Amino acid sequence: MNNLQKSNQAYDFIVVGGGSAGAVMASRLSEKSNQNILLIEGGKAYSAWDYPNAISSADNPGGDVEHNWGFQSEPTIYGNKMDLPRGKVLGGSSAINGAVALRARPQDFKNWNLPGWSYEEMLPYFKKLETSDSGDKELHGFDGPLPVRQLLRTDLTSVQRAFVDATVNIGYNAIQDFDGADANGVGPYRMNVVNGVRVNTGIAYLTNTVRERKNLTILSQSIVDRVLFKEKKAIGIVLANGDEFFANEIILSGGTYGSAAILLRSGIGAKNDLEQLSIPIIADLPVGKNLKDHPFHYAAFALHKEMVESKSPPIATKLWTSTFKDNEAELDLHITATHLLPDEYSPTKSGFVLGVAITTPISKGKVWIDTKDPNILPKVDLNFLDDKEDTKRMIEGAKIARRIAATAPLSAFIHSEIAPGTSVVTDHELEEAIKKNVASYAHPTTSAPMGAINSKEAVVDLEGRVHHVESLRVVDASIFPDTISVATNVTVIAVAERIADIICKTL
Ligand SMILES: Cc1cc2nc3c(=O)[nH]c(=O)nc-3n(C[C@H](O)[C@H](O)[C@H](O)COP(=O)(O)OP(=O)(O)OC[C@H]3O[C@@H](n4cnc5c(N)ncnc54)[C@H](O)[C@@H]3O)c2cc1C
Repeated sequence: MNNLQKSNQAYDFIVVGGGSAGAVMASRLSEKSNQNILLIEGGKAYSAWDYPNAISSADNPGGDVEHNWGFQSEPTIYGNKMDLPRGKVLGGSSAINGAVALRARPQDFKNWNLPGWSYEEMLPYFKKLETSDSGDKELHGFDGPLPVRQLLRTDLTSVQRAFVDATVNIGYNAIQDFDGADANGVGPYRMNVVNGVRVNTGIAYLTNTVRERKNLTILSQSIVDRVLFKEKKAIGIVLANGDEFFANEIILSGGTYGSAAILLRSGIGAKNDLEQLSIPIIADLPVGKNLKDHPFHYAAFALHKEMVESKSPPIATKLWTSTFKDNEAELDLHITATHLLPDEYSPTKSGFVLGVAITTPISKGKVWIDTKDPNILPKVDLNFLDDKEDTKRMIEGAKIARRIAATAPLSAFIHSEIAPGTSVVTDHELEEAIKKNVASYAHPTTSAPMGAINSKEAVVDLEGRVHHVESLRVVDASIFPDTISVATNVTVIAVAERIADIICKTL
């Protein structure tokens, strides 16, 4: 629905952003028929199961330009600007992601160290969100909105199967279910893909039946500028075009970059920064100062083309382990085996990537605005590999990737190494090559972290309420108090499920 004009109707809740978290919030809150919900999304809204192929096809992670906000990082010291894809469509980044559906580990929640946010307390929400095609009832859910399928060995391409076997051959365990007690090893993913369609939260949570609810209004292609306040109480939002909408409570689910930008434009951020932009200060809080993301290194190989039968699914398996044996509680390393290398990059016109990512990085980046204009994207500096420990772990990961590539049966598929290339030999050379080409794994979090009101880093409390103000929450990846050691989508959905449940119990 796009024909709402300046409205004097007050809603119970306005949810800003219909992505992984926002779709959950709008869906769950509108289950209460006495609550009136307005969901505002910057991108387009398609009917469930009617998304254009460029974004619904699970074979096309990243989507297309039309449905991507088009963020880029600030240049690294090597002058490299990283693309930072974020979905701009109902379903948000879940509509353009890799559709890997794995949960954060118990250790991730231990690292968060927040009351109420242990793995045991999150397990009911991980189960609530999914309809799993298999697995143990203690671990998995069987009637939730998101269909999740455990890929089998037979679903993998022949190159991916060879990757799994080579990894087992150098001593790693074969894993059946990465959500299970032991995830340290290699195996096929669980994925939210049905018949080749990436099931985003706009499909799973905002079904056509949910969208027919009389108490839910979806306003698409509408950019939210900022939150309106009466003293310290949030009372509504204003769009970039000047239209205003009012509600008893505002929930920002604009994602790690989007929610931070809205908070900052609304006067919630570091006092000095806001003063420079002449933004009146509502709350002096460290918005955007503790940004985390997973640094990613492409180990790219040319394949013997005649041996490659299929490249679909492009993403299907990984090694999940610890970089160093003295750190086994923390599964801080992913090596993913993907077909996501354009053919023209390979001398054989067939390529393969072992993507190396450090998933519990220490380095912190930042996201900030340099203008009040809501049509200009915020700035992002991921500051990857600033911490020496992260670099050391990345070098180790790159070496493990090379060992796997050199091991049978994968070695038989490999014609040559494209990147970093065989001229890169020493640790120092590897470090240079990694830093020059470091990319984002597209899992940014922690721009408005949860924590106690007196914590130096926290922006919101343990239920997503913004400190020092009333009637304003943030619910999305930005409130993670730290990164998690896995791709983020399912955990974002679970966090939203939990906060929606907490709110619904009060209604
Ligand atoms: C290319 C890619 C691959 C990924 N692969 C995986 C994967 O395989 N598995 C996995 O678990 N995770 C993956 N992720 C990460 C995962 O998808 C995200 O962590 C998750 O979707 C974030 O959810 P969110 O609710 O925080 O934000 P989003 O889902 O990004 O939602 C934010 C929403 O807010 C809207 N919005 C933002 N600003 C405004 C504004 N001012 N006004 C109105 N609307 C606004 C956006 O359009 C968007 O719909 C991937 C991400 C990307 C981009």
